[in-house]
Amino acid sequence: MPELPEVETVRRGLAPAMEGQVIARADVRRPDLRWPFPPDMAARLTGARVLRLRRRSKYILADLDTGETLIIHLGMSGRMLVSGVMPGAFHFDHPAPEKHDHVVLDMAGGARVTFNDARRFGAMDLVPTAAAEAHWLLADLGPEPLGNAFNDAYLVARLRGRMTPIKAALLDQRVVAGLGNIYVCEALNRAGISPRRKAGRIAAPRVAGLVPVIRDVLTEAIAAGGSSLRDHRQASGELGYFQHDFRAYGREGAPCRSPGCGGAIRRIVQSGRSTFYCPRCQR
Ligand SMILES: [Zn+2]
Repeated sequence: MPELPEVETVRRGLAPAMEGQVIARADVRRPDLRWPFPPDMAARLTGARVLRLRRRSKYILADLDTGETLIIHLGMSGRMLVSGVMPGAFHFDHPAPEKHDHVVLDMAGGARVTFNDARRFGAMDLVPTAAAEAHWLLADLGPEPLGNAFNDAYLVARLRGRMTPIKAALLDQRVVAGLGNIYVCEALNRAGISPRRKAGRIAAPRVAGLVPVIRDVLTEAIAAGGSSLRDHRQASGELGYFQHDFRAYGREGAPCRSPGCGGAIRRIVQSGRSTFYCPRCQR
């Protein structure tokens, strides 16, 4: 499932194909993904110019010159492919159509953006740009982890008194938007905080210390995504999935990488999901 760095990587990969470009043709090949598409989606997209692509949490928002914003969610298995001509960038022949290509946007500049989603947990909606942040999928989201509103004072206040484990608290999208299982495990490992510790019982300076660690973990992953984008551009037009070297996630039984620790990564299940952590240095 794509997390924030993967979605940001997709956004950056789509930007040169879409920003400033007119959607010459929108092909919407089924009535729904996870939810029904908005009425007349193809007609409302056709002829619109994409002013900019932005990201909120794990959503990509395409602001259009029609006054509407296209909200895109990749869901569990959504993939974005770019093919065709992109000025100054690269050129891929359009791939043969695949079974799960549900939405295809042909840009006037020559690029084609294909949204493929085998499991159909993805979503698209069109809303007035002024109301985009109030969309029901976005309205309750907490601050962006890379934005200024996510800071020590905020996080300390937000977690005060919470008796849920810190892992669950950080996965709560109302606390901070866009963090998922992988990057929460990574951040807690780096911060030396046990995922089982009750959020409200962690001393304020340690909670404050999570803020720069979360930013670092995400920033490094976005940087890895950026380099994968350059590699992928040479290989295929698919955006957003990249290999990244994790310290905790997926490393059950492997040596902890914290300097001088000597412990081993353990896997436990919390709220039905795997948590990877080092019992020796994460307290
Ligand atoms: Zn360790």
